[in-house]
Amino acid sequence: RSLPLEPSRESGSRQVPAACFSRVRPAPVQRPRLVACSLPALGLLGLQGDELQGSVQEQELADYFSGNRELPGSEPAAHCYCGHQFGNFAGQLGDGAAMYLGEVVSSQGQRWELQIKGAGPTPYSRQSDGRKVLRSSIREFLCSEAMFHLGIPTTRGGTCVTSDSKVVRDVFYDGHPKYEKCTVVLRIAPTFLRFGSFEIFKPTDEYTGRKGPSCGRNDIRIQMLDYVVGTFYPEIQSAHFQNSVLRNAAFFRELTKRTARLVAEWQCVGFCHGVLNTDNMSIVGLTIDYGPFGFMDRFDPDYICNGSDNRGRYAYNRQPEICKWNLSKLAEALVPELPLEDSQSIIEEEYNTVFEQHYLQKMRKKLGLLRCEKAEDKELVSELLHVFQTTGADFTNTFRLLSEFPVPGVSTHFTLEEFLEKLIAQCASLEELKLASKPRMDPRQLSMLLALSQSSSQLFDLLGNKEEITRELNRIELFSELEEMTNEELLSKHRKAWTDWLQKYRSRLEAEAKDVDVADLNTERVKVMNSNNPKFILRNYIAQNAITAAENGDFSEVRQVLKLLEHPYNEEPCVDNVVQEAPAEATTTTCGSLSNERMPYHSKPPDWARKLLVT
Ligand code: AMP
Ligand code: MG
Ligand code: MG
Repeated sequence: RSLPLEPSRESGSRQVPAACFSRVRPAPVQRPRLVACSLPALGLLGLQGDELQGSVQEQELADYFSGNRELPGSEPAAHCYCGHQFGNFAGQLGDGAAMYLGEVVSSQGQRWELQIKGAGPTPYSRQSDGRKVLRSSIREFLCSEAMFHLGIPTTRGGTCVTSDSKVVRDVFYDGHPKYEKCTVVLRIAPTFLRFGSFEIFKPTDEYTGRKGPSCGRNDIRIQMLDYVVGTFYPEIQSAHFQNSVLRNAAFFRELTKRTARLVAEWQCVGFCHGVLNTDNMSIVGLTIDYGPFGFMDRFDPDYICNGSDNRGRYAYNRQPEICKWNLSKLAEALVPELPLEDSQSIIEEEYNTVFEQHYLQKMRKKLGLLRCEKAEDKELVSELLHVFQTTGADFTNTFRLLSEFPVPGVSTHFTLEEFLEKLIAQCASLEELKLASKPRMDPRQLSMLLALSQSSSQLFDLLGNKEEITRELNRIELFSELEEMTNEELLSKHRKAWTDWLQKYRSRLEAEAKDVDVADLNTERVKVMNSNNPKFILRNYIAQNAITAAENGDFSEVRQVLKLLEHPYNEEPCVDNVVQEAPAEATTTTCGSLSNERMPYHSKPPDWARKLLVT
């Protein structure tokens, strides 16, 4: 408090050596107003009911959490961190748009860090303006809360506040800039420290020549590590260890396990983060930084949700290996507090095992396999995912539907035939699959690169195209027959694939049912499945509908979607209105006709939304 607060706009963006944060001041916005707030998230801060509802209260929330009004006792700061972006050390990054306001310690003694994102420039804003717009803010706010209610560790979204201040993000093809409203999200988490927080100590990187701004400052690194372990890993108390290396190893082991479990959860819900740089990896194992993330609709292991990730580095099926690689970069940043050979063996001992264990355990619940733990389950799951892929099944709806599979000896809603019909309805059409299987690379380029790869594998590696080409080739092979197929042939192929898999699933269920009451077992199975397979997730098109309405000044859809996602496992949505309107704007531009489609929130994406890509 005694330090003079320097308005960051005057000091500007700069390198900040030997520091892990800078004092900043939020830049006010014009006419802040509340888009939505999460009652459960604000409840963590001790804010409740009457304090949050009503127009006066909403205005107060908007004033405080836009950064316009200073919270008593708050000391705004921006954190300096580094990171590996898309595989390369990027040097100083830091909170370029986010500002730390302070911490609240709840009556139960829990510590919550408050951060407003989009409140203006900081010394770490580099070329950008420190602002966020409605669409990115609504997505981060809604997804943070959706993840929490799915049971996946995450930072929380407290409020979303928009304003009349404007920034330009995209320029239209006709040369006109698109002005968007500055919007601020209040994020809440035990800590926002990341792997990258420790990378500020990195010595000169041999490939990029960059170094961390706090290189050589072991004293800061030790303080930061003591703070992290002492505060967020209460089970790892220094007093229990003979020396700090052993304590640090215990911390790194626990973080490795948390990270592996987190990614397993993402894979099981079809979530793709999109920007798994080391600066977006939480030091306590939370999902952090919601940008171009996506929940998969049609299952595609190569799903890429980030429009600028051409190589697919952060594709869905690469997330487990990428997070493991990120841990190895954190390990490098912890030397000498934790010698590299220690951290590397911890990663090797724990990561894959914990990931696979957690993944399979979750998948068993999703399939309602309760009784016996079978080695073949791994195969059953991977065969299921193969069927998902070849039939283009909707990831969320198909899993949810499996709880309705008619089990012998139990009275069920449907016959097997009717169940199959419902399954097929969740699969992709011929047209959709053809579109999905179109090679994304020019065939001539593909064959040239292939030829090169045979003559010089080293050159091939240098080009960095190996994964991309392999993916293309697999795709071409997998869908090679589509061109000559009719709709009927595709349908019967889908049907056969599903029938074959369901036969195995049925035998597996029958093996469980030995010596127990089949009806009781089935009741339990359905219960477990329906509390592990969400019915409602934040599909891109649902977020997009809410964004379009909000851009037109109507925040009711954002609020309704928030309520919906607070109960993702409910059979019936807990909102008044079970249908939503497709945005006229989106439907006209992509389909050429005005439609007012109304559809339930668990619908597969409408045509206009299939190609929605967020950058
Ligand atoms: P991300 O890809 O979202 O993790 O962002 C990478 C880096 O860019 C981080 O250091 C951010 O703080 C910074 N950044 C992102 N958006 C902005 C913005 N609008 N203004 C300034 N810095 C930003
Ligand atoms: Mg980030
Ligand atoms: Mg971001």
